[in-house]
Amino acid sequence: MESRLCDLAIEALFPRFCVSCKREGALLCRPCLDFWTPVPPQVSCAFCGRGGSPRTCTECCEDRYLDGLTYFVPYGNALMRELIASWKFHGDRSVEDVFVKSLRRAAPRMQPPLAPYWVTHVPLHESRLRSRGFDQAQLVATWVGELFGLPVEMLVRRAKKTAQQSRTFHGQRRVGEMDHVFEIAPGMSVPGHVLLCDDVFTSGTTMDAVARLLKENGAKTVWGFTLAKGSS
Ligand SMILES: [Zn+2]
Ligand SMILES: [Zn+2]
Repeated sequence: MESRLCDLAIEALFPRFCVSCKREGALLCRPCLDFWTPVPPQVSCAFCGRGGSPRTCTECCEDRYLDGLTYFVPYGNALMRELIASWKFHGDRSVEDVFVKSLRRAAPRMQPPLAPYWVTHVPLHESRLRSRGFDQAQLVATWVGELFGLPVEMLVRRAKKTAQQSRTFHGQRRVGEMDHVFEIAPGMSVPGHVLLCDDVFTSGTTMDAVARLLKENGAKTVWGFTLAKGSS
């Protein structure tokens, strides 16, 4: 709470500068936004980086549930990291406009491979949603639904809170830690094909836990969609 107040004070005292050209004004100024054409992501298995397809490779498929991943920009992109940090950790919602505009531009190369999908997201725990005020994954799902003309539903809810610090030094969740964290939202029936949205794909453990739940409840395909992908 103290650091949040501190951030607010800093924002009030110091004007905002464009993360790209450093000019005063917007977080990403209009000329920079128009000029920003991120390098298209590497096309390979999201879990091991092998192959020439966004599909999960045959080897990883043995113990994974997510069928593949479409993402916008590699997390290594400095501008993307800065935008996501401003959004997630400093609550700067002006970033959303930047994402919506650049996603719209990138949409032709980002078409998910199968239709018809239902769009859903990896939900935050309610208490975290209350403290942050918005669920970034839910926003991504809304944009994706609008972009591709697909129905959006909150199919999953978080039943158990996971501690943010409970990661090993590899950034992976511990085995079994994601069990029973998620459940199908009351009254929801799971469609055959689901496009599962989140903001960032890192190790994929959380997304895969949701993909597993969706498949155990009737989904045949669960394809991931994220704004960024880090290296696992
Ligand atoms: Zn600029
Ligand atoms: Zn693989």
